[in-house]
Amino acid sequence: MVDGVRNVVVLGSTGSIGGSTLDVVARHPDRYRVRALTAARRTDILFQQCLEHRPQCVAMADEAAARDLRQRLRGAGLDCRVLAGPEGLVEVASLPGVDTVMAAIVGGAGLAPTLAAVRAGRCVLLANKEALVMAGPLFMQAVTDSGATLLPIDSEHNAVFQCMPGGFQAGSAGPGVRRILLTASGGPFRTLPPERFADITPEQAVAHPNWVMGRKISVDSATMMNKGLEVIEAHWLFSMPAERIDVVVHPQSVIHSMVEYEDGSVLAQLGNPDMRTPIAHALAYPDRVDAGVERLDLARIGTLSFEAPDFARFPCLRLAYRALERGGAAAVALNAANECAVERFLAGRVRFQRIAEVVETVLDRAGGDSLGSLEAVAAADAEARAAAHDLLGEG
Ligand code: NAD
Ligand code: MG
Repeated sequence: MVDGVRNVVVLGSTGSIGGSTLDVVARHPDRYRVRALTAARRTDILFQQCLEHRPQCVAMADEAAARDLRQRLRGAGLDCRVLAGPEGLVEVASLPGVDTVMAAIVGGAGLAPTLAAVRAGRCVLLANKEALVMAGPLFMQAVTDSGATLLPIDSEHNAVFQCMPGGFQAGSAGPGVRRILLTASGGPFRTLPPERFADITPEQAVAHPNWVMGRKISVDSATMMNKGLEVIEAHWLFSMPAERIDVVVHPQSVIHSMVEYEDGSVLAQLGNPDMRTPIAHALAYPDRVDAGVERLDLARIGTLSFEAPDFARFPCLRLAYRALERGGAAAVALNAANECAVERFLAGRVRFQRIAEVVETVLDRAGGDSLGSLEAVAAADAEARAAAHDLLGEG
């Protein structure tokens, strides 16, 4: 860090979390400088972000998109290196001279770059929960070995982090903590009659009642697989066994999660459902900065309500607990099968309930052996994806 200005890399800058991150960063030019950005293939958005934030380097997963961007940047007279492909993403994630890396690529594609940022010892702001679900032991070991700082962006985990005792570090167990309570909105189908689940369309599934998010996580919220992935994420971040991580449905999404202590105290973090709050918290940690978020008006909200999750209605949540108990490749299989099935559902090719069916079948075939390397994780991931595609009728 030079002159108190943090050099920031945003992985997945064209997405929902990426855009919110750049919004917070732009509010504090005295604190943050954007060094690099990455995207899959949205050249138009990435080009605009380059004009505004002037990164020294960008990477695109898609080679043709990278060529297109290179031309546009040259045409605009911008001096910016353009890297391409998975190696380009990893290179950007571990650029020298960087302080903070926002890991906001969606899905398993984010694992290698996020792990590269951890291994480079950066302050890693973790939104990409799938990376931790796939490679929990490897990931947390890399944090310890490199001395990286890991700060959770997922609103629930950021809330738990904020409710932990002062000086808490991800990967350790909070002293005196008895239980973690993850809140869940219940998504758009919390009260939909079960007989109507067969007719759910992608448009209905991505219309979340409280949050505006990318399409994949929106479907995960509708199946409650998102909460399942978050249970696994909490297990690794807070070193907490599955039986001490509970989910409570809280439809207003005002309490973002809670920590229960041995003496019966329950601490909660509240706020409007706007991801810029956890993003600003982690960007400025341990300071506090303005995030541009509307103030919470509890009198206007009036009522906060709670209920137990319905495991019969949302089998994906139960499957995630099963994956965590099994360990090893089970969580990789859960995540991979879910990604494939959600993609098919979003393409209008399979019905909503097929997601849980495919995940269950692939999960139950997966081995429980621990995966000691990124290569072993990648192999288990490829195997589960092949099995899922088979079940989804793609051979
Ligand atoms: P999004 O779909 O809006 O954005 C995803 C980003 O990843 C884009 O920049 C896209 O270009 C990039 N990307 C996609 N596929 C890629 C690939 N194969 N290679 C390289 N880059 C690729 O998603 P989002 O909603 O911003 O979510 C990002 C991550 O944050 C997810 O893991 C999600 O679970 C997590 N998260 C999101 C929210 C939210 O409110 N959106 C909240 C909590 C956690
Ligand atoms: Mg969340």
